[in-house]
Amino acid sequence: MPKSSPGADSFDVLVIGASPTGLACAIDAQNAGFSVALVDKGCLCNSLFHYPSGMESHLRV
Ligand SMILES: Cc1cc2nc3c(=O)[nH]c(=O)nc-3n(C[C@H](O)[C@H](O)[C@H](O)COP(=O)(O)OP(=O)(O)OC[C@H]3O[C@@H](n4cnc5c(N)ncnc54)[C@H](O)[C@@H]3O)c2cc1C
Repeated sequence: MPKSSPGADSFDVLVIGASPTGLACAIDAQNAGFSVALVDKGCLCNSLFHYPSGMESHLRV
């Protein structure tokens, strides 16, 4: 249960950047019971969204 009610003017944690790391931090903080605000200057995973088109990943899973 969040320590502060949703929609309140203040939050326990402010995460700047809705990146993979930012999302993980926000989710972990919320799961730990903190109220969280997550902001980004662009869209969700903004840096990934702005990858050069045609770029290929060589990551193998
Ligand atoms: C061209 C390119 C290709 C890549 N390819 C791969 C790949 O194939 N495989 C791989 O594992 N990794 C790849 N990477 C690396 C991967 O993108 C990064 O490791 C990963 O995105 C880092 O995540 P992050 O959570 O640290 O931050 P970032 O993804 O860098 O996100 C930072 C976020 O913060 C936001 N932000 C920044 N400043 C502000 C501000 N002042 N106010 C509000 N929001 C702000 C940005 O909009 C962004 O959403 C690539 C990176 C690049 C540039």
